[in-house]
Amino acid sequence: MATYHIETYGCTSNRGESRRIERSLRDAGHRPVEGTAEADVAILNTCTVVEKTERNMLRRAEELESETADLIVTGCMALAQGEAFADLDVQVLHWEDVPSAVTNGECPTTTPDAEPILDGVVGILPIARGCMSNCSYCITKFATGRVDSPTIEANVEKARALVHAGAKEIRVTGQDTGVYGWDTGERKLPELLDRICDIDGEFRVRLGMANPGGIHGIHEELADVFADNRKLYDFIHAPVQSGSDEVLEAMRRQHRVGKFREVVDTFEGRLDHWTLSTDFIVGFPTETEADFERSMALLADVRPEKINVTRFSKRPGTDAAEMKGLGGTIKKERSKAMSELKREICTETHASMVGETHEVLAVEPGTGDSIKCRDEAYRQVIVTDAAERGVEVGDLLEVEVTAHEAMYCFGEPI
Ligand code: SF4
Repeated sequence: MATYHIETYGCTSNRGESRRIERSLRDAGHRPVEGTAEADVAILNTCTVVEKTERNMLRRAEELESETADLIVTGCMALAQGEAFADLDVQVLHWEDVPSAVTNGECPTTTPDAEPILDGVVGILPIARGCMSNCSYCITKFATGRVDSPTIEANVEKARALVHAGAKEIRVTGQDTGVYGWDTGERKLPELLDRICDIDGEFRVRLGMANPGGIHGIHEELADVFADNRKLYDFIHAPVQSGSDEVLEAMRRQHRVGKFREVVDTFEGRLDHWTLSTDFIVGFPTETEADFERSMALLADVRPEKINVTRFSKRPGTDAAEMKGLGGTIKKERSKAMSELKREICTETHASMVGETHEVLAVEPGTGDSIKCRDEAYRQVIVTDAAERGVEVGDLLEVEVTAHEAMYCFGEPI
């Protein structure tokens, strides 16, 4: 769990992006702080309207770089003129990539008394708190402790209440959803998902982060539940973090590359159109050039549809913080190389969808008069001119995918 300071410049659209970033960070348990003194990470959401603004943005980035351990630069100037920040030790990222970079490879934090929340048509359902791991880079585990799982009945009741309150998408969350039930000796995530999907009503369910080590023991049963339930988005988020078993050992992850591949192969065998989301930490203190090449090779081979790349940074009080770190330049170069490969893979994913027809759920307003929708595999499809086309948040509709960007598609209602 990190503390963050965010500064936003420019138009209302940019402010909207900052609000979305803040919402994701809060959902993941991170805490905002005023000013940079207490912040683990500073986020500068830039604008690039006139030359004077650009000089101000660069000057502010220099100040923030010297005041905080980590600086992320996002926004219009970062996207249009990212090279302007090349001399600074900063991460230049698209808005969508900011939350995972702040998260630093740690799991989302669910508070001990977490209750379901309805945000628009999205219901957030924390099914448990805590994890069964002891990752060497993680500070979150100190706050949340070992896994503590309420019963299936208790969670289904909460899900039912969300559906009755108007939820069209239920996000099943937890530190590590894959270990739900381990504390009581029963691996019941597949049964829980089945039971939630059985609730009357038209809605979709998205399973949140599940570590490969946790889901490996139930991956076949879990893949069957995905194949059998159309309400369940065909989407798993299984963070591998490295393609090197030696680095995974130093990270004290509970899986090795082989287990991750087995999980992926099982889902690949059961589902046609699905999304694998995974995370990589680059620049971990023990990561050699050969280890990094193994991560790049794994990414190039598995080609996940969604990829989060995090440049390693130290969290106070963790064992990894005591390790001798790699230089900023090495971390920056590796992060850049992996981000370029990520972009190539994501572009390929979305380009391949053009011309296809998908059923999508309109989940939240986008920029201008657009609406962000999710297809059966939780891939993002934007419908523009939504009001003119009579599309509202909460609608389920068929679209034809007509165009794409690197990270999403555009769809025309049929
Ligand atoms: S699984 Fe690892 S990264 Fe996630 S909360 Fe537990 S110790 Fe932290």
